[in-house]
Amino acid sequence: MHFKSTRDSSVYVTASEAVLKGMPDDGGLFIPEMIPALQISFEDLSRMSYRETAFFVMKKFLDDYTDEELRYCIDSAYDTKFDDPEIAPLHFTDEKTGYLELFHGKTIAFKDMALSILPYLMKCAADKNGVSEKIIILTATSGDTGKAALAGFADVPGTGIIVFYPKDGVSPVQKLQMITEKGKNTLVAGVAGNFDDCQTGVKKLFSDEVLREKILKKGYRFSSANSINVGRLIPQIVYYVYAYGRMIREHRINPGDKINITVPTGNFGNILAAYYAKKMGIPVNKLICASNSNKVLFDFFRTGEYDRKRDFIITSSPSMDILISSNLERLIYHLSGEDCEKTRSLMNELSKQGSYDITEEMRKDLVSFAAFYATEEDTFKKIRTLYEDTGYVIDTHTAVAGSALDQYRKETGDDTPAVIAATASPFKFTGSVISAIRGEKTEEDELSLFDELSRLSGVKIPAAVKDLKSSEIIHKLECTTDEMEGVVLGFLT
Ligand SMILES: *Cc1c(COP(=O)(O)O)cnc(C)c1O
Repeated sequence: MHFKSTRDSSVYVTASEAVLKGMPDDGGLFIPEMIPALQISFEDLSRMSYRETAFFVMKKFLDDYTDEELRYCIDSAYDTKFDDPEIAPLHFTDEKTGYLELFHGKTIAFKDMALSILPYLMKCAADKNGVSEKIIILTATSGDTGKAALAGFADVPGTGIIVFYPKDGVSPVQKLQMITEKGKNTLVAGVAGNFDDCQTGVKKLFSDEVLREKILKKGYRFSSANSINVGRLIPQIVYYVYAYGRMIREHRINPGDKINITVPTGNFGNILAAYYAKKMGIPVNKLICASNSNKVLFDFFRTGEYDRKRDFIITSSPSMDILISSNLERLIYHLSGEDCEKTRSLMNELSKQGSYDITEEMRKDLVSFAAFYATEEDTFKKIRTLYEDTGYVIDTHTAVAGSALDQYRKETGDDTPAVIAATASPFKFTGSVISAIRGEKTEEDELSLFDELSRLSGVKIPAAVKDLKSSEIIHKLECTTDEMEGVVLGFLT
């Protein structure tokens, strides 16, 4: 198995090289040369533990890692850091609806699923490829990636991590989680701008060859922990495969039956992983792409035009407040028949004029997808009604997906058993969740609402947020997008 670039057909690298590099030099994204078939009976699949499933799925993509290396990475990542032995348990709220809880890791959001294994995959890749420089992870975050990446890389020898976040675009808890990070090899900076500004700034640093040479002389090289890294994408395929097995084991479906999968989407990474799980052979009827009011993907799936020229809306699901969904480039590449020229020209249009149109031909392959969006009102209503009907409490991002599934079922009448990716613990967005349940906006400090949320949900306050209030603030740095390079050079002395 090798990896190619979405924009240049001459790129051909091993899995470990792709993990190490993060993205190809041409500005595209790495893509597996083919999507491997599962080649296992669903009965066998349903008997596998999370770690066994992870090995089975990841080995097919990361085939230049030895069995021992891959097992070591998996065992180091998916251990007691997760507060549920299932790693990704399924919670059913009715016969046909299962919430796949992806928030049992260190920072109680789904980014942990991939970011707890990426540092091990990367360190292993560096050793395999004879890399002696220190690997510096450069990350733009809309909230959750930042802390999850910091937690994953903190004090891992041979690595360092720099996180840029939009200083007014993350939740108070998200911000506190990041700026109290203790790892000695970490730097966190708030940027004056939104997430797209941060992401564009980081992309610029990555493609700056002068900067690359400068830091190489100092003994460093950049890599990415953003969701564009295949070392994150591939571990994310695992939980969809696992969820299918769990649906069988719990007699919710028969082996071979189709399911629907609903994913609250921002950068299009998580749902792309579900698309790959389908391509590997998991029987999926529809992949339901759920957006919040920044509904650029909804419009794209409905019209075939991707248009980011619109107002950026700050919502209660900030990790989905995104107008440029980086991972969509991979889907575009597949839709175009793996045509690098075509993909590159569409992506150039996006960066030059802010929009592109795909052809009728390309749209045909979008049949696997459905798209819906939830307004703020829809989101809050979903949290409240689900709580009132079942006692189950979900966060705002998960509620966007829950609302999208409700809308899909209503519009199509298709009530195929569905898995909803539950991407954050309600404790991560306590203020919004309590406001939704009470039916009125609370101005109370989020940190003082944990006890009430714990009482309502019957869930213990997770360790990830319990001690936040008393933690020391370590990272006070703020900058403009123009100052990002200076911040990086200041850290890499
Ligand atoms: C990152 C994130 C998302 C969006 O995932 P993408 O892979 O960017 O589409 C949704 N919900 C939460 C809680 C997240 O942290």
